[in-house]
Amino acid sequence: VINRAHFSEAITWRRNLHRLAQPSWLEFYATGLIASHLTAWGYEVKLGTEIFDPSKQLLPPSAERLAEEYNRALAAGIKEEFILPAKGGYTGVVGILRGTSPGPTVAYRFDIDSNEARESQEKSHRPAADGFASTVPRCAHLCGHDGHVAMGLLLARHFSENRAKIKGTVKFIFQPNEENLSGAAAMIPKGVLDGVDFLLGGHLGVAVPETGKIAIDVHSSLAVTRSEVTFRGKPSHSGTRPDLGKNALLGACAAITNLYAIARHGLGPSRINVGVIEGGSTWNVIPERVYFKMETRAIENSINDYMQAKAREVLSGAAKMYDLKLEVVPAASCPSGHNSPELVAIGLEVAKKLPWVKEVIPDIAWFGSEDFMLMAEVVQKQGGQVLFVLHGTPIGGGHHSETFDFDEEAIYNGADFYAAMYDTLTSR
Ligand SMILES: [Zn+2]
Ligand SMILES: [Zn+2]
Repeated sequence: VINRAHFSEAITWRRNLHRLAQPSWLEFYATGLIASHLTAWGYEVKLGTEIFDPSKQLLPPSAERLAEEYNRALAAGIKEEFILPAKGGYTGVVGILRGTSPGPTVAYRFDIDSNEARESQEKSHRPAADGFASTVPRCAHLCGHDGHVAMGLLLARHFSENRAKIKGTVKFIFQPNEENLSGAAAMIPKGVLDGVDFLLGGHLGVAVPETGKIAIDVHSSLAVTRSEVTFRGKPSHSGTRPDLGKNALLGACAAITNLYAIARHGLGPSRINVGVIEGGSTWNVIPERVYFKMETRAIENSINDYMQAKAREVLSGAAKMYDLKLEVVPAASCPSGHNSPELVAIGLEVAKKLPWVKEVIPDIAWFGSEDFMLMAEVVQKQGGQVLFVLHGTPIGGGHHSETFDFDEEAIYNGADFYAAMYDTLTSR
């Protein structure tokens, strides 16, 4: 049972994180806050390239942004020793606590990044009314990962205060860059999952809008693949010699309408979206370059592979039709995934017995994408088990909306569930 006396401190951590929201690869404040506490509580703490493969850092921020956010964390009181290893945007923390008797390695994964979006400053929005709205321009915690960090720290403190009861090893994986689905892929090559027998994680608020509820078997995660696509042609005067140009915009338009026309796979749901398009220069020039962001998703990895293969045919077909050069740069990908049935069964039993639980939702199809599933795949392949749950809370505006907020009680509830899972997993 998590000590209720520490809950007010967890709220302080959450609100400080909320004020200092930093997005993917720039989570220096969160990294420093987590590392300093874990160190003080006796954890072995790993940072920077010990847990982060720089060659997997997709879409890295500019040097200016890195310096700006690094300095923002220092100005907020983070000691440089805790973020120096993360200086190139190699954010995230792994904390390890070993027990005195043998047992399994139980790992918990919490994501730490904010969104790149503006937060409401209206007084009807509680973080603004209570003075903890984001102070970072164009960045805000609108997905609840500030709550995930606070939940993880509350749980980590619990283990440090009950160290005599630890059997085997407890491991905390505080993962950067969930929003662009790239953080897990950067950590896995460094062995952060080596020897993990059980991996647990979850998300606040998604599909469970009531405090005291918890959804155990979260299924129907979507595999996702994101790319940046560029068509390049040749500019020419649109009045005098349009015949000398090669129109990248026409190629992109043909591609995009046909991307949405891909015949859907009969064996399961899939999605395709082009969310951004930029290109061309002015009225009287044949557009030379068009760029867009494309993603496919599907309920099974194989169906996502089908969508990707078809999308590639459409892109190269459009390039050929308009005599354009095509460039496709991977931006992120993560698999679909499923919880381990054994852990689902244990999770259901554990949740039922917790005093704050009003309702256990046995299973839920959420149609979200989460790079937790990439870690899940690795752990299951090495013979371990995984569980991803949804922590109930009302959420103000929806996730990623400017008025997103959650009931901080969910921080306590989530940590308490994970602590109870630990007790059961190590007492069998
Ligand atoms: Zn999220
Ligand atoms: Zn999100």
